[in-house]
Amino acid sequence: MDDINKIKPNFIRQIIKQDLSAGKNQGRVHTRFPPEPNGHLHIGHAKSIHLNFGLAKEFNGGCNLRFDDTNPEKESIEYIEAIQKYVRWLGFEWSHICYASDYFEQFYDYAVELIKNGCAYVCSLSAEDIRHYRGTLTKAGEDSPYRNRSIEENLDLFAQMKAGKFKNGAHVLRAKIDMGAANLNMRDPTIYRIRHTAHHRTGKKWCIYPTYDFSHCLSDAIEGITHSLCTLEFEDHRPLYDWFLDALGTNHPQQIEFARLQLSYTITSKRNLKSLIEKGVVTDWDDPRLMTLAGMKRRGVPPVAIENFCNCIGLTKKDSWIDMALFESCVRDTLNQTTKRAMAVINPLKVIIENYPQDQEEYLDAENNPNDPQAGTRKIGFSRELYIEREDFMEEPPKKFFRLAPGREVRLKYAYYITCEKVVKDKTGKIVELRCRYDPHSRGGGTADKRKVKGTIHWISAKHAEQAEVRLYDRLFSVENPLANEDITATVNADSLQIKHNCLVEPSAVQIPIGVCLQFERLGYFCLDSCDHSNNQTVFNRTITLRDSWAKITEAQNKKISRK
Ligand code: ATP
Ligand code: MG
Repeated sequence: MDDINKIKPNFIRQIIKQDLSAGKNQGRVHTRFPPEPNGHLHIGHAKSIHLNFGLAKEFNGGCNLRFDDTNPEKESIEYIEAIQKYVRWLGFEWSHICYASDYFEQFYDYAVELIKNGCAYVCSLSAEDIRHYRGTLTKAGEDSPYRNRSIEENLDLFAQMKAGKFKNGAHVLRAKIDMGAANLNMRDPTIYRIRHTAHHRTGKKWCIYPTYDFSHCLSDAIEGITHSLCTLEFEDHRPLYDWFLDALGTNHPQQIEFARLQLSYTITSKRNLKSLIEKGVVTDWDDPRLMTLAGMKRRGVPPVAIENFCNCIGLTKKDSWIDMALFESCVRDTLNQTTKRAMAVINPLKVIIENYPQDQEEYLDAENNPNDPQAGTRKIGFSRELYIEREDFMEEPPKKFFRLAPGREVRLKYAYYITCEKVVKDKTGKIVELRCRYDPHSRGGGTADKRKVKGTIHWISAKHAEQAEVRLYDRLFSVENPLANEDITATVNADSLQIKHNCLVEPSAVQIPIGVCLQFERLGYFCLDSCDHSNNQTVFNRTITLRDSWAKITEAQNKKISRK
């Protein structure tokens, strides 16, 4: 993948450069990443984090981590803590940690100022009536009967709203803009609503909460943000962002929109992620099949692979889908450079080397990483009783099968040539053991007569192996856009998790630190599971396979479609 490590041009960088050369914002660049603490971060957030923190770093500016905590019903401290943890995991540190809730008093004062300037009014229509009066894309809105309340009455009602005199929904505060505006967001949007709900930070102090449109631009202004980067769905909200800041005469950050990351074969919206957890499709937010940062970390995806992916997809102003295969290949490429190799057998088949002495054992040299000579070598044990992968043997091999078969010779990686002499079966006809002969002169994988063997397979010595459970993860969905189906569970990939017990791994594999991947030769990249691995039970997660097995499936699907 040539694209990796190449930072794509990005139009926001160009805007910032122009602003700097025009002397805007006194040469300052300050961005923010503003998650709502109502769920865990996912790969889409990673794009925004890399963009905001990355640009701040590039231009010697700052980036705030701001919790957009204005919807107390759905938010929690648990999410706030996890978000900080995962921003740091991606390698970033914020200039300031901020909470929109810290500005509640200021927001309130700004709202009062709007009322005093005749720019806001208390509306007592029901939510349904407000919707009705708003009109549609083809029909202008109508003024609310409460639009012309006097400033005094508005101030009094708003103070009473704050004092908790009214029930939820009895009144809202609305900006007085233009009910005939073509942009629906400008038709007197709501800026405060009554919610008798305790807030995780401000407790019961407030029973009125500002809306996103009001609090977001003001939070940006209060913090001295210069460039407020958000996803495209807020493009239509920009006039409102500008309107509030102009009406209040505050400093004026610039909102710039970019395309949301839409990744195939997965879902990223927090609401849908929550529903997958509630329905038991996945275990929790850190289920390794989810594209949450917690899930990816547990699965073994290194943060630098996420960075490579974000650089690779670049930044556009047009929504488009990114193929999961691109993400996977970023992970594969990153891991290929850095991981140590080890031997493991997931589906073991016993092999007895009949001409190898009963009590003998020896240690063979194996490369730790062929891509990195500095990584050195290690010793792996060899003895009479081995295990190979069941899939590497066929009693009646088809033409293109070059691995072990009766009478056939193959190379055991780093070790010897072996030839299969006999197949032992149990009562049911299942193959339980292979009797083989080895060539003592082929140590290290070659012979003096230079005879060729077509297949090289991995193996593990029974005496030198540890038992492990291996969890084979795959894409969670079997279709590109799971949300196209009304029931998102209908397209879950039934093979997204296969648990293999009684696997055998090289002892060195169990020594790797949690969170670090290794490559099990010929099988893929794996890491120890951060939750379930313990001294009593070794548990590995497959981070990614060595090759893209989905390419063939997609190709076949496409062919089928084009044939129809
Ligand atoms: P969700 O739909 O998952 O709830 P959200 O946009 O509501 O996402 P927030 O917590 O409000 O999530 O988002 C914090 C920041 O991350 C916002 O600036 C938002 O635009 C950005 N963001 C969220 N999802 C994506 C995505 N898929 N691609 C790029 N940026 C994203
Ligand atoms: Mg949201």
